[in-house]
Amino acid sequence: MEWCMSMPKVELHAHLNGSIRDSTLLELARALGDKGLIDFSQVEHVILKNDRSLTEVFKLFDVIHILTTDHMTVTRIAKEVVEDFASENVVYLELRTTPKKNDSQGMSKRSYVEAVLEGIRSVSSVDVALIPYTEDPRNLLDPLCGATNDKCNGNSRKKIFVRLLLSIDRRETTESAMETVELALEMGHLGVVGIDLSGNPKVGEWKTYLPALKFAREQGLFVTLHCGEVPNSKEIQDMLDFLPQRIGHACFFEEEHWRKLKSTNIPVEICLTSNIRTLSVSSIDAHHFVDLYNAKHPLVLCTDDSGVFSTSLSNEYKIAASSLGLGRKQMFELSKNSVEFIFADNVVKDELREIFNSAAKNLE
Ligand code: 5GP
Repeated sequence: MEWCMSMPKVELHAHLNGSIRDSTLLELARALGDKGLIDFSQVEHVILKNDRSLTEVFKLFDVIHILTTDHMTVTRIAKEVVEDFASENVVYLELRTTPKKNDSQGMSKRSYVEAVLEGIRSVSSVDVALIPYTEDPRNLLDPLCGATNDKCNGNSRKKIFVRLLLSIDRRETTESAMETVELALEMGHLGVVGIDLSGNPKVGEWKTYLPALKFAREQGLFVTLHCGEVPNSKEIQDMLDFLPQRIGHACFFEEEHWRKLKSTNIPVEICLTSNIRTLSVSSIDAHHFVDLYNAKHPLVLCTDDSGVFSTSLSNEYKIAASSLGLGRKQMFELSKNSVEFIFADNVVKDELREIFNSAAKNLE
């Protein structure tokens, strides 16, 4: 299905450290192995293992985080992840990552995010539009330039819009979560648009983060929550009552949760391969994507962790198309509708709609 690759796509649920190329992880592991800091053969086995339960996935993240501790590596992986998404025609990417403090590397949460932003800015294979329209000084000269540099300089190079969400890990304290929200607010002019709550769903209480999440929303940041990755009826209900702008996963919803979700129209970030690989859903046919799609509920197909689950956004579209027996036109519509759920301003949405409209002409 070549068209899954060539059609424009929108990625709204991608964790930076879950989206690293295997080749890069192996290279980083080999370098640490050579220095005698880790046992390379053991780490290699963990990286290349394919079937992992949810618990094993979080163990793998601990290994990945050991390999990606310094600023230079963080910059490198951010660059590569954006390049990889752009190479499969993702035209808008919301990348999320957990700001990390690491004294031994002289790393603060701020310097970590700066390293990520530097990586995104250093992409050269494609034009990257990272700065929000209202913050781009070029717009003072020509209101169309920041969002549509193609029109300003006659440039027809491929372009990807990128925005950053800062994640709160469920192992953090309320204070640490608040620090992340404050950082997101301070870095809004650099491309940070929202907050995500993620991390091992079997750990911690989501209410620990409620003050930070409420503050984020009051201050105008967008909020998305990992919701219903494990059975936890009360937490799911409370999360839906919070009315986040989007949720991710929704695997263990009960009747009352579906009712609430559908009545509130909260868009769902659907991660098919991730849910199947972690055994959160038994098969694609049994996946709630089918019902939500048929009910015309707002949803967007996403990769979650393209590196960890060896997938790509094109592959997610391919899987969805074959499981529902959907054709090229319907998948294109699904992709185009994702634009409505992005955490960016209307200027970006308008340009993305234009990109989809001109791509639609090739469908006919
Ligand atoms: P990072 O935030 O370090 O860039 O990306 C990896 C982190 O994202 C993991 O340590 C974890 O906190 C979060 N993450 C990645 N995939 C998942 C997932 O499927 N579920 C949840 N709840 N968190 C995830």
